[in-house]
Amino acid sequence: MALDKRMPGDMSDNDLLRYSRHIMLPEIDFEGQQKLLTAKILIIGVGGLGSPVALYLAASGIGEIIIADHDKVELNNLQRQIAYDEESLGQSKVASCADKMEKINSKIKVVQLDEKLTGQQLLSQVEVVDVVVDCTDNLTTRFEINQACVTHKKHLVSAAAIRWEGQISVYHCGDQNSPCYHCCYGMREGSREDSREELNQNCSNNGVLSPVVGVMGSLQAIEVIKLIIDKGDSLIGRVLLFDALSMQWETMQLPKNPDCSVCGRSC
Ligand SMILES: [Zn+2]
Repeated sequence: MALDKRMPGDMSDNDLLRYSRHIMLPEIDFEGQQKLLTAKILIIGVGGLGSPVALYLAASGIGEIIIADHDKVELNNLQRQIAYDEESLGQSKVASCADKMEKINSKIKVVQLDEKLTGQQLLSQVEVVDVVVDCTDNLTTRFEINQACVTHKKHLVSAAAIRWEGQISVYHCGDQNSPCYHCCYGMREGSREDSREELNQNCSNNGVLSPVVGVMGSLQAIEVIKLIIDKGDSLIGRVLLFDALSMQWETMQLPKNPDCSVCGRSC
C-alpha cells in the first residue's frame, strides 16, 4: 500500500503510524485523532509556558495552530523556553517556534502572528478557533484575552508559573455556570492596590524554576486535547495548584461571581 494513500477518516498510513500511540488510547481512537487533526487553536505567548504547549500540540497533530508573540528570543529565555536554542537568539519567537513545530510535524498548519495581539485583532483571532491558550505573563493581557473568550464563548486554558509554583485552570466562557478569569482574579470594588500588584508579579522579577513552566505548559496541552476530544474531567470551575518545592498538588473550586462585570450577564 502506498504510504500516502488516504485512509478512512482522512488519515494516511503515515498518519496512522505517527499517531498510533494516541489511537491506541480508547478515549482517543481514530475518531479522537481525527478531531485533533481538524482542530484549530490559538496560543497567545510562546515563552516558558507556550513552548511546551506549542511543541506538544504540534506533535499531537492539532490541525491548525496560531501562535502570537511580539518578542524576540533573548539569552535569558533559554533557561526555560524549550522551543528555542542558541541559534534562535535575536530571531522572532513566532518564526523560531513555528520552525521547530514544523520540524516536528510538517503536516500541521502553523500561523505566525508576530505582534501583540490586542483589540479587534485579538477578537478576530479568538472568534475563529476552538480553544484559546493563555501563556502570557501580564495581568492586563490576561483580562483582555478573557474578555475576548467571553465575547465569543470560547474555552480558555490559562496557566501561570512563578518561583517554584504553578497554577492552571480552564474557563468555559460559553457556559453560564462556569466562572471566567475575571470572576476569579478581577479586582472587586475597594480592593487593595497591592492585591493587583501581587497578581501582576511574573517570573521576570521573581524568577522561576525551569521545569515548572514545562510542567504547567504540558498540563495546558493536556487540557486542550481533552477539550477537543471531549473526554475526561476538565479543570472548568477548578484551579490546580502545584508547589514543586514541597511537591504538593492542590485543587480548589473556583466559584462564578454573579456580579462579574465581564461574564455576569453575557456568559
Ligand atoms: Zn466572570
